[in-house]
Amino acid sequence: MSVQITFLGGAGTVTGSKFLVQHEGRRLLVDCGLFQGYKQLRLRNWAALPVSPAHIDAVILTHAHLDHSGYLPLLVREGYPGRVWCTPGTRDLCAILLPDSGHIQEEDAAFANRHGFSRHHPALPLYTIQDAKASLERLHAVPPFRAFEPLPGWQARLQPAGHIIGAASLLLEVGGRRLLFSGDLGRTDDLLMLPPEVPPNADAVIIESTYGDRNHPVTSLLDELAPVLERVAARGGTAVVPVFAVGRAQALLHAIAQLKQQRRLPHALPVYLDSPMAIHSTEVLAQHPGEHRLDAGQVRDMARAAIMVRTPDESKAIATVHGPKVVLAASGMATGGRVLHHLVQYLGHHRNLVVLTGYQAPGTRGAALASGCETLRIHGQDLPVRAEVVQLQSASAHADAGQLMTWLRAMPGAAHRAFVVHGDPPASDALRQRIERELRWHAVVPEHGSSWAV
Ligand SMILES: [Zn+2]
Repeated sequence: MSVQITFLGGAGTVTGSKFLVQHEGRRLLVDCGLFQGYKQLRLRNWAALPVSPAHIDAVILTHAHLDHSGYLPLLVREGYPGRVWCTPGTRDLCAILLPDSGHIQEEDAAFANRHGFSRHHPALPLYTIQDAKASLERLHAVPPFRAFEPLPGWQARLQPAGHIIGAASLLLEVGGRRLLFSGDLGRTDDLLMLPPEVPPNADAVIIESTYGDRNHPVTSLLDELAPVLERVAARGGTAVVPVFAVGRAQALLHAIAQLKQQRRLPHALPVYLDSPMAIHSTEVLAQHPGEHRLDAGQVRDMARAAIMVRTPDESKAIATVHGPKVVLAASGMATGGRVLHHLVQYLGHHRNLVVLTGYQAPGTRGAALASGCETLRIHGQDLPVRAEVVQLQSASAHADAGQLMTWLRAMPGAAHRAFVVHGDPPASDALRQRIERELRWHAVVPEHGSSWAV
């Protein structure tokens, strides 16, 4: 009997990763992500899956980012009965990310109801904090490299992929086939994370392509960040830095700690980390030495590089602090979270600066800012954008095109087939072409919802 894979998300887009593998009547879901960005993508979160969650037999997560894990609370609430396999790092980060996602869903619905700008009355959250907490009980951690059996006769193994704490590639052996899911691959030259492990042999590889059409510049994050923050400090402005709470927030903190140590930034420049989630993720980083490049002293310095802002009142009080400052707040693409309030506060003045720190999915406020929009819609209002906007080229947590190709080439043998996923169409297609041309493997960019025999 053949093995079939269906692309329920993460196909033709970077978000919503969900790959359903079927064999002899059993179904296993690799990743369970939320769609983010364009409204027509986000609406997919509200549509029922083509397979009832009650009929899915196992779930494996490659990592904790919401575009890979954020649909889990809904999957469990709608009847998924089984375990969710992942690494210990992913388990620890999901414990932070999923309840926060539930909280944001609840807040968005409440805000829409208060201000009456939702077309639905009342606006309901996609899921709640309670749903998220219930889904955490299903997480079942296995250490990297240890083989496990998610279903009878199915063999699986997770191995480090760099990117963020706990992130893994997955080798799945079923029905005599070896499927390799890259997950999100980190870069080999990341400031924080170790490079991805060398991939094993496989018949088919499902490879991400976030940066499938680009190579990262050779400048380091430190060299790119220093002049930007110096500039805003010199003119007495505020730098608002939307950060991905898990991963980039820590890389930025580490970079700022180093810049202050090297006296490339004034020691007195106040830096705020305004995200309880990012604060907790920084603690998780400390609990997983060996998965990143920092020693204990550097972890300590990183944690001291910013004023940790926990409560909403402390967050609001930042606006009353005069003089230059740096505010790091989630979310990284300004789709929600406390960073919105800081953007409302600081977007309107030339003195200030918005620093975008990673991939910005089309349709998000981050992407609008990156493309030089003149106004930005927040909480139903169009705000003029007068602040300077800078998009860092060196802050990405993803392998670039060259590094993706190097990872594929490191496989001990040729894969018969590559499915290029987790990218915007130009990026996915560029990587597909390179795989066909340089490796001579059969490569496709699967359509959303399409099924393939592998
Ligand atoms: Zn990711």
